[in-house]
Amino acid sequence: MGMVKCRECGKDVSDKAKNCPHCGVAKPAPESKFGLIVKLGLGAVLVIAMVRCISEQEDRKSQAAAEKQRIEASKTPEQRAREEAETAKKEAEFQSVVSRLRALKASTKNPNSFELVDAVLMTDGTLCATYRGTNSFNAIVTENKAIAKDLKIVEWNRFCGGKSGTDMKYARQAL
Ligand SMILES: [Zn+2]
Repeated sequence: MGMVKCRECGKDVSDKAKNCPHCGVAKPAPESKFGLIVKLGLGAVLVIAMVRCISEQEDRKSQAAAEKQRIEASKTPEQRAREEAETAKKEAEFQSVVSRLRALKASTKNPNSFELVDAVLMTDGTLCATYRGTNSFNAIVTENKAIAKDLKIVEWNRFCGGKSGTDMKYARQAL
């Protein structure tokens, strides 16, 4: 234990005193130079780390944006047209699947109980849907239906059986 000068009144106090016995100020011992330097140093390190982290994030963001822009700019008009056509095709496909699923749902005994289990779009355009719903006896049944582009129900075994296609189950969000 050492004696130091109170930071408030300047009188001698113990460096461990909680309050100055002369003026009553809390923590009367002035902060040691060492403690102050350590605190300042830690603070500076923290600030530098934060600034660096933020600027690195910004760098990555602008790099990603520049890369995207570069790729976009390097595309030929043909490429761009192809991509647009691809997107339009996907959208049309999705809409076609949704309208077929809606028609399927509406055709069931209890459309409110309709729950899509699986929807796969085949390369020939057939939609192979598996769904659950209650029948007229209120029993839950699982059914398979192969639906052509024109909404006609076609033979499951011929168009869907043992085949694979594009998973369109996410279309149920639009039902
Ligand atoms: Zn004092």
